[in-house]
Amino acid sequence: MKILFYDTKSYDKESFEKQLANFPEVEIDFMKTDLAPKTAPLAKGFDAVCAFVSSDIGTETVEKLHEAGVKLILLRCAGFNNVDLEKAQEYGIKVMRVPGYSPEAVAEHAMALALGVTRRLHKAYVKVRENDFSLSGLMGFNFYQKTAGIVGTGKIGAAMARICRGFGMNVIAYDVYKNPDLDFVEYVSLDELLERSDLISLHCPLMDNTYHLINKETIAKMKDGVVLVNTSRGGLVKTDDLIEGIRARKFFGVGLDVYEEETKNVFEDRSDEMLEHSTTARLLSFPNVMITSHQGFFTEEALAAISETTLQNAVAFEKGESTGNEVVKQG
Ligand code: NAD
Repeated sequence: MKILFYDTKSYDKESFEKQLANFPEVEIDFMKTDLAPKTAPLAKGFDAVCAFVSSDIGTETVEKLHEAGVKLILLRCAGFNNVDLEKAQEYGIKVMRVPGYSPEAVAEHAMALALGVTRRLHKAYVKVRENDFSLSGLMGFNFYQKTAGIVGTGKIGAAMARICRGFGMNVIAYDVYKNPDLDFVEYVSLDELLERSDLISLHCPLMDNTYHLINKETIAKMKDGVVLVNTSRGGLVKTDDLIEGIRARKFFGVGLDVYEEETKNVFEDRSDEMLEHSTTARLLSFPNVMITSHQGFFTEEALAAISETTLQNAVAFEKGESTGNEVVKQG
C-alpha cells in the first residue's frame, strides 16, 4: 500500500514514522504541499492519499484523484466537511477518518480557552512581561456553580461536560441524540441552552443544518456576559454577527480554536504579511477574544493515536475489512 501524504509538518512525519515500524506493508511519501485540485494529480501511482482538515477535497480534487487512480482518502482527523463525499462514492473512492483519537485533547483545550478568556490570561501574560503588575482589566468570574451549555455531546462534548462537572458547574446540553453515559447532564432545547448558559461550548459537527448555528438571532437569545468557546468548526459561527455581538458587549469572553477564515492560516507562519481585509484581525482587536490556530487536537497522545488509526485504516482497506471509520454520505 503506497500512500501520498499531503501537507506534512515535521510533527506529522515524526509520529507517522514512529508507527510505520508496526505496519511493514505500508509505504509513505511525505510531501509539504496540501491536497487541492492542482496537487491531486501528483497522487498518480499511489493507492491512497492522506489529508488533513484544511485540505481541499471538493468535487474537482476528487475528480483528479479518481483520474490518478487513487482508491482511498485517509483523513488524519475527525471532521470530514471538506470532502465531497457524494463524488467520492460515485467514483468508488473510500474515505476513512480518525473519529475519536483523543476527545480529551480537544475538550481540555476548550476549557483552556474558556478559562483563558474568563480570567484574562492572554492579557495577564503580556502585562506581567512588561513589568505591569496591576490588576486592571483582569477581573474574571468563577465557573463554580455557573451553568455550562454543551452543544453536541458526542465524544468531545462528553469530555467537556465531564470537565465542567469537575469545576462544580451545572451542565446542560443540546444534541439531536442524548448521550446515555452523561447521567449528570440535563438535556434542554437549543433556545433554553442559549438562555441559561454562562459558558457555551460548541462540539457538534459542521453540517448543512449546523452552518451558522451561532448567528444574530441565536446570539440575541444568550445571556449578557456569556463566554462562548468554539473548538469544533469555524462555519458554526457567523463571524460578522459574532463581531457585532462582541461590539454590543454581549460576551464576557470568546475563545476560538476555529473560525470561518482560518483555512489560509491554519498551521502557517504568516507573521510577515499584512492581513488587511481579515476578519481574524478584527476579532483579535477585541480585548476579550482569544484565538488559537486549530490546535485542540495537538497533544502527544492525540498525534500517536491519529497515526496509529490512520495506518490501521489503510491496512484494513487493503484487506477489504471494515474498521467502522469509513465516512459515507448520509441521506
Ligand atoms: P462526535 O461525532 O462524537 O459528536 C458530535 C455530536 O454532535 C453527536 O453527539 C451528534 O449527535 C451531535 N450533533 C449532530 N448534529 C447536531 C446538531 N444539529 N445540534 C447539536 N448536536 C448535533 O464528534 P466529536 O469527536 O465529539 O467531534 C466534534 C467536532 O469537533 C468534530 O465534528 C470536529 O469538527 C471538531 N474537532 C475539532 C478539533 C480541533 O482540533 N479543534 C479536533 C477534532 C474534532
